[in-house]
This record gives sequence, C-alpha cells and structure tokens, in this order.
Amino acid sequence: MDEAQPKRTYHVWTVGCQMNVSDSERLEAALQAVGYTPVEQPEAADFVVLNSCSVRESAETRIKGKLGSLKTLKDHNPNMQIVLWGCMVGPNNESIFKGKLSMVDHFVSPSAVDEVVALLPNPVYQFDEPVLPIASHDHPPVTVHVPIIYGCNMNCSYCVIPLRRGRERSRPLAEIVEECRRIVSRGAREITLLGQIVDSYGHDLPGRPDLADLLEAVHETPGLLRLRFLTSHPAWISQKLIDMMARLPKCMPEINLPIQTGHNDLLKVMKRGYTVERYTNIVEQIRAAIPHVSITTDIIVGHPGETDIHFQGTLETLERVRWGKVHVAAFSSRPGTRAAEMELDPNLEVPYWKKQLRRVELDKLQGAIQAEANAAWLDQAVEVLVEDQVRGQWRGRSPQNRLVYFSDAGDWIGKLARVHVTRTGPWSLSGELVPELVAA
Ligand code: SF4
Repeated sequence: MDEAQPKRTYHVWTVGCQMNVSDSERLEAALQAVGYTPVEQPEAADFVVLNSCSVRESAETRIKGKLGSLKTLKDHNPNMQIVLWGCMVGPNNESIFKGKLSMVDHFVSPSAVDEVVALLPNPVYQFDEPVLPIASHDHPPVTVHVPIIYGCNMNCSYCVIPLRRGRERSRPLAEIVEECRRIVSRGAREITLLGQIVDSYGHDLPGRPDLADLLEAVHETPGLLRLRFLTSHPAWISQKLIDMMARLPKCMPEINLPIQTGHNDLLKVMKRGYTVERYTNIVEQIRAAIPHVSITTDIIVGHPGETDIHFQGTLETLERVRWGKVHVAAFSSRPGTRAAEMELDPNLEVPYWKKQLRRVELDKLQGAIQAEANAAWLDQAVEVLVEDQVRGQWRGRSPQNRLVYFSDAGDWIGKLARVHVTRTGPWSLSGELVPELVAA
C-alpha cells in the first residue's frame, strides 16, 4: 500500500454494561458507514477507542492496563489516535486524567457516538440517515439493544453513574420506533429497550409518553418476534407497565428489578427509595399479572455499614422472593460517592474476605433456588429464539431469558424453535427439537 494512503482502520475495545456494549455497536456501525474497517488487534489500527466503565474499580484497573500497552504501540506509531470514551470520562473529570494519561488523544463522554466519529482523521463518506447499531456483518445480530433513555436522576450511595452519565435524557418516541423498524428490517428479531432506569422513560418529553406507550408502539414493528426492556427500578415501575407487559404477546415475561439489599435500614443508607415490603408487593403484582414471569435482581454485598443482620435479611429475602436469576457483586468503592466516604470509617468498612464470603454464600443459595426452579421445566416444551451455535449445539433463549441448547442439522439462527426439555441445571436447559416450526 502507498505509505501516504491513510489506512482507515479502527479497533474498539469495550468494558462494562449493556449500555456500553450498545454504544460500541452503534459506534462501530458509524465508523464503518464512513469508510473505516475493523481490525482485531490494536497495533493494526490507526483509530483506537476504549469504551470504558467505572462502576467497579477492577474495570478501571483493566482499562488503565490496556492504556499502558497502547502507549507502547503509540510510541512505534505516533499517528495512532487513541480515544478514551465512556464512563471513566464524566462531564467534569477529563481534567483529572489530563497529563496522567499522555497516550490518550481525546476524551469523550459516554454515549456521545457523534463526538467520537467527528474525531476521525479521514472519513470518506457522510451519513445519509441516522446510523443503526448494526455494523455490516454477514449475519445481522438476532437480538439488538436500543437505548431509550440516557443518564440517571437518582443518587444511590454506591453508584458513580449519575456523576458520569449525567441527568436523564429520553429519546423521542417516534425516533425509537423508526429505529426499531429499520433494525428489524435488517434481520434482527428481538429488541431490548435500554436505560439505567428504563421505566422512567419519557417524563422529560413533551406529552410525557411512558415506557408502556413505547412498548405498545414498538410491538407493532413488522417482523419483530420478541421485545424486552432493561433495567427497571422499584420506585418507577407502574401497574400500567405491568398490565401492558401482560397484554402484549411479543413482550417477554422477564423483568430485571434490582433490590440491592434485603434490609430496610441498609436500603435507606443506599438511598434506594423503597422498602423490602414495597419491593415484595411489586413482585406479587407482577406475578399476579404475568404467568410464568421470571423476575431477576442485582444485589450488592459488603456496602459500608452492612452488618451480619443486614446480610441475613438479604438471605431471607432471597428465599422468600425466589428470583429467576441474581447478579451478586461485592461492593467496590467509587470516588465521589457517599459510600466511598463511608468506607473511610474503619467501623463501617466491610473487610474484603467478608465481602467475598457473603458473595459466595448468596451465589450458592441462589444456585440451589435456580436449579429447583429450572427443574420445573423438565419435560416441558419451550419456545427458543436461536442466537448462535456453540460447539455444534444451537443456543438460544426461552421467553424467560433462560439459555436453551439443542442439536439439529438445520440453520436455526434468528428462528423460533420449540424444544422439549430433557435436562435442566441452574444456569441452562437443554433438550430436543420438536419437529414443528413455530415461526421463521
Ligand atoms: S438508579 Fe442508582 S444504581 Fe441505578 S444508575 Fe441510578 S444511581 Fe446508579
């Protein structure tokens, strides 16, 4: 290749939550739309983007390690442009890193795809219409995440997201509906609507549409098979939303409703805005309205000030609610949060070993609960939307978002299969294809 010709290659490295994954998908699609080509290794790229996460200290440590190795590459290739993107770059903390991260050329706030694209040294095309979160793969993804609201207005004691992602901003309803239509027309079959608090969608828009209205509108997308949303907040979920979920056949019976702890005193310290009783009432409302619904949750162990009594409350709540899945995280101190200040007090700090013990104990109990719940699917037929193939087996998800495996010689990607469950475990189901095509 002529040395003077720009290579127009990029490498995107993503850490963190589904919102970051979705932002990176959108960025990659935009980079390809302006003539850039993805490369596996950063050394082959002239434009490198790290989409960062700061929810946990371990994520930031990984990113700093990655930046260290990029510095060596940049020493050999001074034309390489490095962009630090995402939650490590909040509205006001770019200055914190300036000087310390000399290898970084640009700092860009989370979700600002256009700002990253504007930094490209040699774009060859312009966008003719808004870019979808689907890059030019051979197979478009079966399931696509669509952000509907950015930022968070809450102030949970342990969470850095409001500091980094700012106040809530909802996307206009018509824009989301049109985007979903285009995504599905490109071959996607399932849409997951995303937000830090997805059910606070719309309160900042004219006419105040809400998530129930949006679900109803997206549900009409021709060719769409399944619709989900993520993540809910117990203080925001409404009966209208629950009823809408129950009414819309493509809206899957699954809801992620973080509780964080099973003790009211600690919920208050965390500033979560509900009690355990309120939470369990909501669970009952959801279960009464939606048959076979799977409710999942997130729990933090080792928040500063968490006592054995608080933790016991969480264990008891786990037994009582019997969630479909629980994501347990050990508390990680984030500078700038109330919990980080609390952790400086040795009387409130929960030692590392105790956090880990609590995490393991919760995981063990939840594993047993899930194994028992999944065993109820034995000998049942489940409808599976097939996403990919792993070690010769088709892999997809049930309506409740459980992983399901089966074998068959056909091509099942993006199709609904009916699977007779012959084996269950805590994390997945497997079975045999019922020879009847449900939908294509
Ligand atoms: S609701 Fe709380 S935990 Fe969730 S993003 Fe907002 S501040 Fe963070």
